[in-house]
Amino acid sequence: MELLKERIRKDGVIKEGNVLKVDSFLNHRMDIDLINQIGREFAVRFEGEKIDQIMTIEASGIGIAAITAQYFNCPVVFAKKTQSINLDGNVLTARVESFTKKKTYDVMVESRFVRPGENILIIDDFMAKGYAARGLVEIIQQAGAKVAGIGIVIEKGFQHGGDGLREDGIRVESLAIIEEMDATAQKIVFRE
Ligand code: 5GP
Repeated sequence: MELLKERIRKDGVIKEGNVLKVDSFLNHRMDIDLINQIGREFAVRFEGEKIDQIMTIEASGIGIAAITAQYFNCPVVFAKKTQSINLDGNVLTARVESFTKKKTYDVMVESRFVRPGENILIIDDFMAKGYAARGLVEIIQQAGAKVAGIGIVIEKGFQHGGDGLREDGIRVESLAIIEEMDATAQKIVFRE
């Protein structure tokens, strides 16, 4: 998605440790016009798939998933990262290693919100090693539902999470795939 790549080049900031900051337009302040176009692009990529529900993970996936869901006319369920008294039913859980926070945590979805047989599209802002997406895949499979695919706004291709999932037969559609990035030169190379 050319518009997204241009925006990453213009406003993305590459940090040491292979972290890309896009908080001026994607996951802190949100450019809703751009995210609308992102949602429309996911709808084009997954055209013809009957999507019953979108699943994402709190917090930064929620806004993107909510806008995307308007193009699929379906609800969004987001996995929670913290146990809460509001999670009072049967809960599906998966362990996820956090790329940015360097710790492991549980993600949780109440089982009544994922029905057996549903076709579910996973949406998230970033893919690095694929841990977050794999946690959601696990939850969907525990529920007896089906993973329609994974839609990612920015995939860091050099961390190979997306390639691993593709090798496992899961459809991963990323709107910008970064092949290389250099914090010193502030240079990004996208996969063609
Ligand atoms: P993974 O689980 O694929 O290793 O990492 C994906 C998760 O970590 C995403 O949900 C995202 O929130 C976060 N993440 C990974 N890499 C980056 C990055 O370079 N920048 C930002 N802002 N978040 C990242």
